[in-house]
Amino acid sequence: MVEKPRFIMCICTGECPGFAKLDLWKLINYVRNELDVEYAIVHPQLCVDDGDRFWADYLKEGRNDVVYIVGGCDPKMQNKLFKEVFTSKGLDIDKQLIPLDLRNMETPEAMKKVEEVVSKLAGE
Ligand code: SF4
Repeated sequence: MVEKPRFIMCICTGECPGFAKLDLWKLINYVRNELDVEYAIVHPQLCVDDGDRFWADYLKEGRNDVVYIVGGCDPKMQNKLFKEVFTSKGLDIDKQLIPLDLRNMETPEAMKKVEEVVSKLAGE
């Protein structure tokens, strides 16, 4: 069975101006209720120490069938920030992380961006 993707919204503490236009709860409830994901969660800041600890706790060793869609900042930055922990769990970041830049977007635009990726993964 192919696992459904997990959606994690990284909201940059909630105080970053880059997400000022985004209605976080509208987005997350849309993703978890309307899209074909296993679940959707919010993390306040994945790129600092407790974010590292979260990833280390959360990612399952060797589970190469799970894809993590992370809404947040620049994809290149996300890849750089999260590579170590993915590698340490035996995961392939290039295949298992889909980093989405959702900064400076209105909520409908962010919803559409996530929807497009989820649909693509589901082969729709
Ligand atoms: S990973 Fe990106 S979006 Fe998340 S807190 Fe860090 S800089 Fe902000």
